Amino acid sequence: VPTTVIRNIGTIVTGDVGSPIASGDTVMVEDGLISGVGTRSNVTIPSSAVEVDAAGATLAPGLIDSHSHPVFGDFTPRQRTLDFIDSCLHGGVTTLISAGEFHLPGRPRDRAGAKALAILAAKSYQNVRPSGVKVLGGAVALEPGLLEEDFDEMSQAGVQLVGEIGVTSLYQPPDAGPMVKWAQARGMRVIVHTGGASVPGSNVIGADIVCALQPDIAAHVNGGPTALPEDDLLRILRETDARVEVVQCGNVAVIPRVVEAVMKQAEPRRLIVGTDMPSGTGVIPLGMLRTVSWLSSLGGLKPEVAMSMATGNTALLHSLNRGRITVGLEADLLLLDAPRGSTADDALSALAVGDTPAVLGVMIDGSFRIGASRNTPPGKRAVSIPGADGGGH
Ligand SMILES: [Zn+2]
Repeated sequence: VPTTVIRNIGTIVTGDVGSPIASGDTVMVEDGLISGVGTRSNVTIPSSAVEVDAAGATLAPGLIDSHSHPVFGDFTPRQRTLDFIDSCLHGGVTTLISAGEFHLPGRPRDRAGAKALAILAAKSYQNVRPSGVKVLGGAVALEPGLLEEDFDEMSQAGVQLVGEIGVTSLYQPPDAGPMVKWAQARGMRVIVHTGGASVPGSNVIGADIVCALQPDIAAHVNGGPTALPEDDLLRILRETDARVEVVQCGNVAVIPRVVEAVMKQAEPRRLIVGTDMPSGTGVIPLGMLRTVSWLSSLGGLKPEVAMSMATGNTALLHSLNRGRITVGLEADLLLLDAPRGSTADDALSALAVGDTPAVLGVMIDGSFRIGASRNTPPGKRAVSIPGADGGGH
């Protein structure tokens, strides 16, 4: 991996909601990690470094989709689509978190099958990164008969997640509650579906069940795809410590209410961002950027705060060594800009007016996987990234 210096950056978005903009115009990357953040004069640059002139574009952490439904590799059975993860890379996504491999054709609904699927998905995504994107796969679907010893076995095999509770038939607190505790005692993060039923076989889940289960994540509080009532959201915020998630495949009209409720509690760290795709709604390669633009343009959040909810907040929840622009973290980075023709002049202003920014380049572990995205509009600024292949327009 070459040592790379990105200079002439217009704005550095940190991924930290508490301090979402870093001063400086230069970021250095060595051995796949961020090694310097500052100004050209205070970052020491080796003569062998590859230089990228950002031409005033915005640098941000790679987006972390907190709610995806991969199965294996880069194929989604739900929409019979190949290479959807590659398409998301072109939308600035560098990490996907599975909320459950529910779309597997013939998904087994017994103890042995549920456990085997979670372990297989976790291990297979440890071994493969589609187009370089890091996938945290293996989110066990709760099924009758799972025992505490199964959570030992799964956790030792690398399963870190309990997939959306409420999608399978086992979700009532007397049955699901003990399993939630077994999982959390082993450091696994537990996701509960909220709102209306999603795919056939799933259930309506409101605050009663979420508050009884005390999960780590209350999924898609703006709907997946149908939003729960506002009173339920307020109860979840008050009576649990769960992160609340907004997604692309949800209800856009409730975004302002969700933002207001979270900010009223003064808990911006609790809001995380996902897509919930592939789903019945489809494959939406720009889903993360679009959701960030909703949070900013409709929800009134500062765009750099909304970006940090889509990166650092989720990284902290899952203890990922990325998602923020800080020395020592994995160099998963985006160069963003206002799209050509926008009334805005840079990426953050574009988000604030509801435009989808241009992705000018995506770096994973210190290497640019792509230059200009094949899926976003082109940017106002021309950035040339040595060796990086864009999608062209
Ligand atoms: Zn769901």
